[in-house]
Amino acid sequence: MHLGKDELVFIPLGGSEQFGVNLNTYGYKSKWLIVDCGIGFADHRYPGIDILLPDPSFLEERKSDIAAMIITHAHEDHVGAVPHLWPRLRCPIYCTAFTAAALMSKFEEAPDCADARITIIKPGDTIKAGPFKASFIPVAHSIPETCSVLVETKAGRVLHSADWNLDPAPVVGVKTDGALFKEAAKKGIAAYVGDSTNAEVPGYSGSEGDVEAGMEAVFKECKKRIVITIFSSNIGRIRSIAKAAEACGRSVCVVGRSLHKMIGNAKSCGYLNDIQDFVTEEDALHLPDDKTVIIATGSQGESRAQLARIANGSHPNIKLNKGDSVIFSSRAIPGNEKEVIGVQNNLAAAGVHIITPRHTAHTIHVSGHPAQEEIKAMLGWLKPKSVIAVHGERTMLEAQARLAKAEGIETAIVPNNGSVIRISDKGAEVIDHVETGLLAVEPGRVLEADHSSISQRRKLQYSGTVHVTLVVDGRGDLMGDPKISTVGLEDAETEDGKMFHDDVLAEVEDILADMTREELKDDAYIAEEVRIGIRRYVMHVLRIKPITSVHVVRV
Ligand SMILES: [Zn+2]
Ligand SMILES: [Zn+2]
Repeated sequence: MHLGKDELVFIPLGGSEQFGVNLNTYGYKSKWLIVDCGIGFADHRYPGIDILLPDPSFLEERKSDIAAMIITHAHEDHVGAVPHLWPRLRCPIYCTAFTAAALMSKFEEAPDCADARITIIKPGDTIKAGPFKASFIPVAHSIPETCSVLVETKAGRVLHSADWNLDPAPVVGVKTDGALFKEAAKKGIAAYVGDSTNAEVPGYSGSEGDVEAGMEAVFKECKKRIVITIFSSNIGRIRSIAKAAEACGRSVCVVGRSLHKMIGNAKSCGYLNDIQDFVTEEDALHLPDDKTVIIATGSQGESRAQLARIANGSHPNIKLNKGDSVIFSSRAIPGNEKEVIGVQNNLAAAGVHIITPRHTAHTIHVSGHPAQEEIKAMLGWLKPKSVIAVHGERTMLEAQARLAKAEGIETAIVPNNGSVIRISDKGAEVIDHVETGLLAVEPGRVLEADHSSISQRRKLQYSGTVHVTLVVDGRGDLMGDPKISTVGLEDAETEDGKMFHDDVLAEVEDILADMTREELKDDAYIAEEVRIGIRRYVMHVLRIKPITSVHVVRV
């Protein structure tokens, strides 16, 4: 990958084609500007893995040429990978105070990031980083201090939207101001690199301002205990809930580490200082059921979060009974639907009312991402030469590209992760492709998501294993019964299990009996023949091809 003289390129290294793992970079005059560095949630394809990261190898190979890393806002899909990947990039970081507070609390648990330098910018600021000029334009989104970034170079000007919407009455933070975008577009915008999350959704995303009233109406319908779950980072939603609870004479109690952390960050940045004080979990237990609202983590069905524990009855303090209510003031991120339904099933079994945005006519959730009319408004302000659709699944990116075309934009690009897109005042085009991928986070290490250990785990879920150890003497005669162990195939305690074990044993002995003296001298030959024979046998009786391994020990 070689940058031509005066050539500006944009490369989405993650976050295009899948939700989360955003990692974007701009290249100009051999320097690189990173915008966002986030995590994604792993689904069933990655057994044992919770979190995925974008592979930063492309940037790591150029780390001395990284001018800056800009973080647009404190959502995990934009900031969550920084503590994992910064040690490999070691570049200056720029973000707003709220995002910096979130990042600093992550760095407390990341000793390798001890010398990371964060420069706090204010919305409206402009910075110079190498050959790039970057201006931060405040936008409305479901977390405070989100900024779009105007990236300016001599080769062209790009508006990188970050996540945004046109909430007409946000309860925390500012409205998106069309005048600022029109101003940014005065010298022309070569490309708009935009949030595609809700590009398939007609109309507008709605307003957080409506949530407070909607929530109050729903609270009034609930006669007993209320638990409400939200995205921890949705500071505006916490405020809406607190205000609605106050209007209904209910105190608010917050449970869950990530919620407490986010609220602490918000208060340190001057937010949430105009609402009633929260009560502790202990105090909440002593209040009547109809006098509290409990805000809990776990809106995505995460098994270790507070809501899942409340739902399966394992929470030490909070128990729900028939007639209590659980409100989901959120939506499931693509890929998390099954986990959310699992939690809802547990609640339903206990006779708890479940209220999701689908169950009520009142507004209890709005999305922080632009729907079609909002995207049209943005394109109208910017009048870009080209649109590059990022941040979303393929169908979402395609929807934004279609919308841009319908709005008369000349070029609309749906990139793959790794697409190298040249941007100039004439427009944009894909000119190359670089390697990129995903990394999987385990408790003790980070490995490539296509690492064979993960594909083996995937296979194990369906196939089970058979392991055989043979001890033979110099002539190849068995010194005792082979040791056979299986996982995921039989229950060794049952008659069937014992019979299966004996049958496999007999099969091994038959295979060895068929071998010549010469063949019995060859350990590798014995191991492979027995392995194939056992697999064939299990396939014959169970119609499953297990992962089979054979060790030959010669004494
Ligand atoms: Zn996002
Ligand atoms: Zn966001």
